[in-house]
Amino acid sequence: MVIELDQRRKSQRLASQRSKQVCTSKTCEREIAAAGIPGAPGYRERASLVRQGHHALRLADEIERKMELRKHGLSRGQKEIRDAWKDLCNDKSAKSLLQRLGGKNGIDVSKAEMKRLINIFTYIFFPTTSTDAKMELDFAWQDWRQMPQEVGAYRELDKGGPLICMCAFNYVKGESCGSLNEIALDRLSTILHELIHAYLDFYACRCVEVLDSFEENVDQAQGHGRAWQRIASAIERAAPELLGYPLSMGRFESLTAAWKYFKHWPSREEVEGWQLVYSRGKEEEDEDEDMYIQCGGGGEDR
Ligand SMILES: [Zn+2]
Ligand SMILES: [Zn+2]
Repeated sequence: MVIELDQRRKSQRLASQRSKQVCTSKTCEREIAAAGIPGAPGYRERASLVRQGHHALRLADEIERKMELRKHGLSRGQKEIRDAWKDLCNDKSAKSLLQRLGGKNGIDVSKAEMKRLINIFTYIFFPTTSTDAKMELDFAWQDWRQMPQEVGAYRELDKGGPLICMCAFNYVKGESCGSLNEIALDRLSTILHELIHAYLDFYACRCVEVLDSFEENVDQAQGHGRAWQRIASAIERAAPELLGYPLSMGRFESLTAAWKYFKHWPSREEVEGWQLVYSRGKEEEDEDEDMYIQCGGGGEDR
């Protein structure tokens, strides 16, 4: 029956189908990436990012494309930010930002320091150009000890945001890696998890009554629809090289937690593309040995 349903789907949201019209507006379904050779006839510049102006799956295409390039796709400005990140990682004193991030009480890291981490990750994973609308986020620690399942949340633009909230007291079971303990790694992963929600909230169009609607690709499964899954998978695979640490975005849990609410089931090919079975840090050789720390098998998602 699964195979039969798969064949009956009207569309497969895959790269091979990108030319299919999906939005009601001609502009939001457009590819974001530049096309052609600069200076040659037919060259098209990368589209500027506008607020709520792009189809969610075109945004996913864009992040996947960038992440596939790994560090070779970083601009000079991004490399400088990545160097600043390396400096943070190399400061292993007990008072350093990343060591305090691994403390039991998150409040030991100030809001300004959390916003600095958010900005570093935004710059590395969701870079914008001077003509793009900017994604600027606030941050707040929360005391959610009564709700141990709540680790982080993103509050949308139209609901008092844009704001990333995180529980100051979470006790995770994961593994440490290099100089970072499991709490620090979990908090860094949570920042990136929420940044994906923010990115889609900022830039994804709200076209309705189309083949691939916002409701289907973004909103369903509590925001962990197709677009979120594709972006999270791409970022998780690139994180060991770009940051030097394996991060886990909780992709599998995001699906199982929303199981009852799934309205638009993914196809088998889509789920394969999300690579839910992924052994962290073992996928590829890394040349940047000062940066990359090979840590245990992992694979267990948050
Ligand atoms: Zn649209
Ligand atoms: Zn989420």
